[in-house]
Amino acid sequence: MAEQLVDTFGRVHRDLRISVTDRCNYRCTYCMPPEGLEWLPRSELLTFEEIERLARLLVERFGVGSIRLTGGEPTVRARLAKLVEMLVPLGTDLALTTNGATLGLLAEDLANAGLRRINISIDSLRADRFREFTLRDDLHRVLDGVDAALAAGLDPVKVNVVVMRGQNDDELLDFAEFGRRKGVEVRFIEYMPLDAEEGWRAGSVVGLAEITERIGEVFPFEAHRQGSEPASRFRYLDGKGFFGVVASVTQSFCGSCDRIRLTADGQFRNCLFGLEEYDLRGPLRSGAGDDELAEIVRGAVGDKWAGHSIGKVHFIRPARSMSQIGG
Ligand code: SAM
Ligand code: SF4
Repeated sequence: MAEQLVDTFGRVHRDLRISVTDRCNYRCTYCMPPEGLEWLPRSELLTFEEIERLARLLVERFGVGSIRLTGGEPTVRARLAKLVEMLVPLGTDLALTTNGATLGLLAEDLANAGLRRINISIDSLRADRFREFTLRDDLHRVLDGVDAALAAGLDPVKVNVVVMRGQNDDELLDFAEFGRRKGVEVRFIEYMPLDAEEGWRAGSVVGLAEITERIGEVFPFEAHRQGSEPASRFRYLDGKGFFGVVASVTQSFCGSCDRIRLTADGQFRNCLFGLEEYDLRGPLRSGAGDDELAEIVRGAVGDKWAGHSIGKVHFIRPARSMSQIGG
């Protein structure tokens, strides 16, 4: 049996997020400034072979059971399906989070390469708002992307919505209706202070209690059994599917967090909000063996703190924004 990655609080880590690039073709207001960020030089990005080696180590040595590819925007990395093909033999639950803009072209290749699960981020179903949020006139393309993902047999297809007060919280019911009609699970995400421009305010967060109350007034639901995933899940009573809320701000799930992260430039992170990164790329490129890399990972997880304290005076933002860490 594989060794477990346990921290000092007894949390066992099995869920790995891999950012495959820090680049993105969108400029979501809550994530990236309009002018973009300074992208990492290509030589600093892990190659697919390096990603596969580190993922293999984490799976075979430490029993990691699920991998999600993210970014930046993962689909801007050329030949993403090739990476999927390389990771499938590891036998994990393999998923992708994307803005969906190019799924019309890529969904089938990704599914053929062995991808099963996908999350597509959409923050407004109104074309003008979508353009305002992302600086791209792409709503139709992303909606086609949802259809392409469904047609390619990806299952489940989920839609991620970051809910921001006064900006898109009047669309909660539209999204609920969209999810029910399409047969996709909408996951409402509480707005987190990881925007590049540091514009986040506590008042911009629409919390789980309010989201569920407003949906329940129109579409009655019941709480669904919670797995290890951070989203609270709800089942519509009329049988038309599920929705979820990722309440990272109002009901931090740090106590049961089993997530670890690898950034596009090969830094290992033990927490989205962590202030420290642990370099794996340097040792990897200078010929470190698996034992040496495993020791760095073990140490990094051992250092993991109890959790973030968003909204408290002692909260410190991490130096990198969501798109650079990998959401
Ligand atoms: N580009 C891909 C996408 O947009 O889905 C993957 C990377 S993105 C950073 C991953 C997820 O993080 C997306 O669902 C996005 O909406 C979410 N996200 C980004 N910034 C956020 C913030 N400040 N608060 C909450 N969620 C955020
Ligand atoms: Fe790009 Fe995703 Fe960030 Fe939007 S949320 S700017 S699509 S990385």
